[in-house]
Amino acid sequence: MIYALRRIWLEAPEPRDDCDRCLEIAEQRVECRRQGNRSGESDCNVLLRRHFSEAHT
Ligand SMILES: [Zn+2]
Repeated sequence: MIYALRRIWLEAPEPRDDCDRCLEIAEQRVECRRQGNRSGESDCNVLLRRHFSEAHT
């Protein structure tokens, strides 16, 4: 993972690279970030946290 992107991950769990859903959400979050879409980015963090609580606990 690119170090400069790591601060994005601080607000939510780190995506697992062996999980398609994690990667899907992570890619969407990167895209929101690139477009300056902060609310979209927050939505992705919420999705990721929810997914983690359902799939990775
Ligand atoms: Zn996952």
